[in-house]
Amino acid sequence: MSRYRRRLRWNRIFAAVLVAVFAGTAVFLIHDSLNTLFPSATEEPSALKSTASSLPAEETVPESSEAAAPEASSAESPAEEASVPEPALPDGFRWLSIPESALCTSDLILVNNSVPFQGENPETAVVLENKTSSYKVKDSTVVLQTKAIEALNRMLDDFYARSGLEDVMVISGWRDPEKQETLYGEDLLETGKTDSTLVAKPGYSEHHTGLALDFGLLPKSDGFGRSYDGEGEYAWINENCGDYGFILRYPADKMEITGIEYEPWHFRYVGVPHSRLIMEKGLCLEEYVELLRDYPLDGEHLSGGGYTICWQQPEKTADGYRIAVPEEGDYTISGDNTGGIILTMKE
Ligand SMILES: [Zn+2]
Repeated sequence: MSRYRRRLRWNRIFAAVLVAVFAGTAVFLIHDSLNTLFPSATEEPSALKSTASSLPAEETVPESSEAAAPEASSAESPAEEASVPEPALPDGFRWLSIPESALCTSDLILVNNSVPFQGENPETAVVLENKTSSYKVKDSTVVLQTKAIEALNRMLDDFYARSGLEDVMVISGWRDPEKQETLYGEDLLETGKTDSTLVAKPGYSEHHTGLALDFGLLPKSDGFGRSYDGEGEYAWINENCGDYGFILRYPADKMEITGIEYEPWHFRYVGVPHSRLIMEKGLCLEEYVELLRDYPLDGEHLSGGGYTICWQQPEKTADGYRIAVPEEGDYTISGDNTGGIILTMKE
């Protein structure tokens, strides 16, 4: 055999091998596309896996029986794979549909330098027109949500009854972002810094909620304004505000967390029982909102002052969200402004 013929023969053998490899690849590809086109007919391996894991230990799937496996799994597997299991609704609870805005609305929303106020501008009332005679207000531009004014009236009526002092003055309530912008700019000018530890960034102030207020004191007859320091007789307010739904929002020992210096004059309405729990536990709102995540609907609930409290991650639905609420009894819900809903139930 000449060298030429040998080479020809080897070329033919090589070509034959190539054809065989090509044909094999084609068969493999066709099989693969069939798998894609007819998954139910050809997906024994994965069906086997899921069936095997859901079967009791003694019921094993025959190892080599490719025909038996789809029959064994076809009744259960597609349904199991198609639907996400329905979250469990505890006894005595029902679903409640809520709009997305509920996540950033109500008494417990957290607003700070990293969590902006995201809600609609709140409905407010003029404090001057709704207050009792036990305290003062700067002027008719000071507005707050009605529930905060009512709580303020109760707290300062009790303070006046104890102390005879009626010179606490509300100097600031709800602020729109433009007003906050002005205050923030003024503080930067004054301090020469690039950010402020006393004034929140515009859009990030809890004064936007209509639930926060600042106290001053009525100026003395010489006309000089006095700042409210929560000391002396006034310490009673700072110590007992929790009984009226308020918290001291920026305590001295929480600056690392709140990012705001001690402000003995800044109060935030969060409602009872949360205000009592926050003040009793010595927390700031950041810590409290975080703590509530440890009390999910299906776990142990936080108890205090005749209420039980739990945290829920709302479930997305076609037209909003839904949460579980008790079928009977009084309850309130509040967004925490960080993706959760806090459910407060009367015991
Ligand atoms: Zn303030």
